[in-house]
Amino acid sequence: MVANVKDLALRERAAKVIPNGMYGHEATHLLPASFPQYFSRAKGAYIWDADGNRYLDFMCAYGPNLLGYGDELIDSAAVRQLAEGDTMTGPGPVLVDLCEKLVGMVSHADWVMVCKNGTDATTMAMTAARAQTGMRRILVADGAYHGAAPWCTPMPGGIVPEERAFISKYKYNDAASLEAAVAEVGDDLAAIFASPFKHDAFEDQVLPDPTYARRARELCDQTGAMLIVDDVRAGFRLVRDCSWELVGVRPDLSCWGKSFANGHPISALLGSDRCRAGAEAIYATGSFWFSAVPMAAAIETLRILAESDYLERTIRLGEKLRAGLAIVAERHGFTLRQTGPVQMPQILFDGDPDFRIGFAWAEAMLERGVYVHPWHNMFLNGAMTDADIDFALEAADGALSQVRSSIASLEPHPMLMALMGAH
Ligand code: PMP
Repeated sequence: MVANVKDLALRERAAKVIPNGMYGHEATHLLPASFPQYFSRAKGAYIWDADGNRYLDFMCAYGPNLLGYGDELIDSAAVRQLAEGDTMTGPGPVLVDLCEKLVGMVSHADWVMVCKNGTDATTMAMTAARAQTGMRRILVADGAYHGAAPWCTPMPGGIVPEERAFISKYKYNDAASLEAAVAEVGDDLAAIFASPFKHDAFEDQVLPDPTYARRARELCDQTGAMLIVDDVRAGFRLVRDCSWELVGVRPDLSCWGKSFANGHPISALLGSDRCRAGAEAIYATGSFWFSAVPMAAAIETLRILAESDYLERTIRLGEKLRAGLAIVAERHGFTLRQTGPVQMPQILFDGDPDFRIGFAWAEAMLERGVYVHPWHNMFLNGAMTDADIDFALEAADGALSQVRSSIASLEPHPMLMALMGAH
């Protein structure tokens, strides 16, 4: 058991002043009991919890850490801008520099609107598509996550049906299901949303079928609707462009967030001229959307993305991790389902419908100084090295041996069971 006295004390204080003690995707309610809630430090590929325990971090802040925590070049650019000005009465020149840089990197994009969180970008994409087309209906893949606004949040609390009245579902990667959904919507289709690949929680990941992606493009061309790729989670982790360049499909809008400033708070909606009028017709803003510090960080991040081999390195390390874990798992009699791009791995266990083995392995990895997630996709980052992957594989060997010997006594997580029962 890892030391957690400070974490427990923080949780106790938090229970009084924060609803549920913590909320949202970083809450640990649906993680093994030993997972720390609070972290005091992060550097490179590592995080330290409030009690000072160090972990090799395969969650990367759920995506924002792309090149390593506390990258000195990126943070220096941020600090230099902070000395000049951050949130001001108008944006800094860095806004124009950043938008030019993004348009230069992302093939489909002719323009950029900068915002703060991924949900800002996806919601703005929906609104711009409606303004462009004059239509109301939005198609989203069943189970896909596009943010925490009323139209897309996966949890029903406080949401009235009318807020989702114009959202329809289709099955990801299923061209026939998409065609049927488009036909049902008739002449009221504003947009089709697509994740770059299927990266839903609790499930194996699935890469995009190019036939489905191309059909989505054709259907938008035929109906006048906008095609939106939600690259908030995968952006610049698969390719130095919009992720659907890999399947040869260009959207009209793409949503970005999380990592293009390496953890500094900024997101963006990128669009082609096909949706420029729509973007010009909407009112979209926020008090902190134009803060200059994250923009300076983003510009430096994008420079490094263009000039370094971060992508090729994370893919190589991801392949090493995947191959090594398969061998280690087999040694202990487990079959892992390792799916999705190697640099964004989802790791689930065969024969583990209630995730009790996955929870036990995550807990045993944590004890050995490696932070893995039992049901959400993970991330590699540019600061990871061969030695880190070796460390993770060694931890996995010990962890899986421990899980094997305790397997008869494992229990499913009660809150997870309650949640799964409710769906
Ligand atoms: N879209 C996707 C694909 C995401 O993964 C996320 C965040 N997990 C969002 C949208 C929402 O981003 P944010 O939490 O920054 O609002």
